[in-house]
Amino acid sequence: MAFGFKGGIHPDDKKSFTERRTIEEMPAPKQVILPMSMHIGAPCSPLVKVGDRVLLGQKIAEAASPVSAPVHASVSGTVVAVEPRPHPNGTKVMSVVIENDFEDEKFLTTAYEETRFADISATALADICYNAGIVGLGGAAFPTKIKIESAVDKVDTLIINGAECEPYITSDNRLMIEHGEEVLDGASLVMRSLGLKTVHIGIESNKKEAIGRIKKYAESMPHVKIHVLHTKYPQGSEKHLIKAVTGREVPPGQLPSAVGVINTNVATCVAISRAVRYGTPLTTKVVTVSGSAIANPKNLLVRIGTPISEVIECAGGLKADPYKVIFGGPMMGVAQHTIDVPIIKGTNAILAFCEKEDKIDEAQTCIHCGKCVGVCPMNLEPLYLNMYAKRNMFEELEQNRLFDCIECGCCSYICPGRIHLVHTFRTAKARYNEMKKGAK
Ligand code: SF4
Ligand code: SF4
Repeated sequence: MAFGFKGGIHPDDKKSFTERRTIEEMPAPKQVILPMSMHIGAPCSPLVKVGDRVLLGQKIAEAASPVSAPVHASVSGTVVAVEPRPHPNGTKVMSVVIENDFEDEKFLTTAYEETRFADISATALADICYNAGIVGLGGAAFPTKIKIESAVDKVDTLIINGAECEPYITSDNRLMIEHGEEVLDGASLVMRSLGLKTVHIGIESNKKEAIGRIKKYAESMPHVKIHVLHTKYPQGSEKHLIKAVTGREVPPGQLPSAVGVINTNVATCVAISRAVRYGTPLTTKVVTVSGSAIANPKNLLVRIGTPISEVIECAGGLKADPYKVIFGGPMMGVAQHTIDVPIIKGTNAILAFCEKEDKIDEAQTCIHCGKCVGVCPMNLEPLYLNMYAKRNMFEELEQNRLFDCIECGCCSYICPGRIHLVHTFRTAKARYNEMKKGAK
């Protein structure tokens, strides 16, 4: 039985639009736009110039610092631009643009020796993940090489995140149903490399088909332990998943390794399995395309770098002018100003809504009901954080643990005053960091 956590909410999960839609491979686009920053850490440096011919899977950008991940061509073709382009983070980022020749001519890569799977070392696995450009595919996009290296001799528990608690998103659910064997293979490789004995996989109880498939695969893998988790948002947040599976609490401001845990997402496990077994670099991503403005919601296997305008077209296009387009889920996703941005490594969903579905209004008055305190899974007091943030009271924000806020959006969701609290906290963190930088 899973351990519970205080707070959280039960929004309508809206997963029925796509949870039974099998993953469909989207035709490759005419052009891909590959930003040099698709991960946490320093941006990459391009290895190619305009006019170069590149092959599918060829490394086209190298990491410029230890915390980074290289980028690979997701089509074969010709480099037509190396210039700043709009990025899903709202800025312009240096990008390599490749005109597809539709040949899919592959760059030659080498698989790991099969005879050594059983005793793969953490160093070997970290190097394979680095060379394949693998980052955390649950959205965080932290380089997997660094995650594995920093877990050596520090962790006793591996947890695979199959919670997928954000409404609408079903890409991990479909991966577990259709590629469960690869999920468990990648997880087992991480487990062996770190000298661990068990793979713990946490899946929310609303994903019955995925639970059934993973259980079936696990029949021949006694080292896999399945944890059926309560369906409650934000069950998939790293700290809450660890609490649910192990009962351990990650102290404020610390990483999972502080309690001996390494977390990996199911899509990352699939990428690890393919990189080890076939030498395949990360060039595709499964993306849920859904929301009230999407004509034919579905799960698509998309080349990284595909413009989202084309991804939306592949899902039947827009039914009406969208009020809002979001990268990621409705709770933690990032609203987009343009649909000219590309799918990046961490993209797990594109949502488009045709009417004002969030509850924000202009008045935004706090009635001191305390509901935000009741749902905050990090035991914060959002109403006071909001007050301090509005007044730029940075000392009070620090004392009241602003930086423990995981930006889950539970407080905004529940607030009857319709105050966009999470937006205020994001902005306050940015202002605080600016202020600290200025002080230096
Ligand atoms: S939920 Fe909204 S209205 Fe209620 S106390 Fe919190 S901020 Fe104020
Ligand atoms: S967004 Fe931050 S303050 Fe609001 S409920 Fe989530 S963790 Fe708590």
